Amino acid sequence: MHHSAGEGEAGSRPARGSGAGVSIDAERLWTTLVDSARFGGTERGGLHRLALDEADAEVRAWLESAAAVAGWPVQRDRIGNQFVVKPGRRADAEAVLIGSHLDSQPLGGRYDGVYGVLAGLEVLRALAEREIEHERPIILANWTNEEGARFSPSMMGSAVFSGSLALDEALARADAGGATVAEALAGVGGVAAPTAERPSVAGIHAAVELHIEQGPELEATGTDIGFVSGVQAIRWIDARVSGESGHAGTTPLGARRDALVAASRIVAEVAGLGETVDPDIRPTVGELVVTPNSRNVIPAHARLGLDLRHPSAGILDRAERTIRQAAARIAADSGTSVEIEVILDQPAVVFDSGVLEAVRSATRSLGLSGADLISRAGHDAMQLAARVPTAMIFIPCAGGISHSEAERITPEWAANGARVLFETVAELSGARR
Ligand SMILES: [Zn+2]
Repeated sequence: MHHSAGEGEAGSRPARGSGAGVSIDAERLWTTLVDSARFGGTERGGLHRLALDEADAEVRAWLESAAAVAGWPVQRDRIGNQFVVKPGRRADAEAVLIGSHLDSQPLGGRYDGVYGVLAGLEVLRALAEREIEHERPIILANWTNEEGARFSPSMMGSAVFSGSLALDEALARADAGGATVAEALAGVGGVAAPTAERPSVAGIHAAVELHIEQGPELEATGTDIGFVSGVQAIRWIDARVSGESGHAGTTPLGARRDALVAASRIVAEVAGLGETVDPDIRPTVGELVVTPNSRNVIPAHARLGLDLRHPSAGILDRAERTIRQAAARIAADSGTSVEIEVILDQPAVVFDSGVLEAVRSATRSLGLSGADLISRAGHDAMQLAARVPTAMIFIPCAGGISHSEAERITPEWAANGARVLFETVAELSGARR
């Protein structure tokens, strides 16, 4: 129910932010989103804020000063994850963990990850402002290097926190310029340095990540909220094709062993997996490295980087078999050799039904519409899901566009998601209202 009485006096407050069921301040949330985009914001309305770069250091400091104003301690672990801790009535109780990431892709969007952290901050602020007490501590996380754009792998901070990636291995990863994560952390200084106290995965009761959908389904169906039941399986495959280089003018057609021609046929096979294996598969060849890459030399080598995704790992097994068979056939036809290597095999993730039920009931209580869906992208929550009851909440994003400066959401979508997060966190943390 949304009361209209009193809205005149409230002035600039959006209509749905006042009256019964009041929780978060929608206008403050939007202002915070706009305001924080000055750290790494681009002229075209995007965001360029790579993990542990200067803009990331600035936004980290900004988050810590926002926590300081409210009187909440900030803790940091050894991979630079930041945790804003809002204490509960029971100091010894396991915490409710929310948040996402403040880093972006190169020339990326302003909402991917950022929205989840800032909506989480708004939830903490609203709980404090309304003096709502909760039994469990609530921890707002900013995970280091979710995007994996500067340092591989993606979801680095949450993977280290969850124990699926060794800290030393993560710290040794280097960017294209040769700087390691350890060096970058040291360069960022105080807002990335470990604190004496910090949360551990064993101390988490439940985790919820709020995020933009990064796909078109919610907007297309006019749905306010996505109940994310899981994340599809991801498999990365490298295909290395070896032929023989030769003169572009003098080598007869019958004598050629052209690695790029063979690689192109593999690309076509990958693109056809929707027809040959399953229409719901997402097959991409996003990388092609040709050697020697000279216009008048027949290519000797080509390396293809494949990314295959589907909710079922069994379908990915079939897709991999299909690619291996096609590659063998293409190699024989073209006088080349093809080597296939799986470099990442990430199983599908199923989120916790209890946490999802809390999200569903929050959505219902607010009179918003919701639908079940699966995440097509990887998220920090999938790292947490292996260790603690975890789920995700999606809001729409315009045209499903993400990892782009054109990424957009509306203030209303932003407010809806934050309201659902508020109600969900209130429930999970044992809030007294
Ligand atoms: Zn993200």
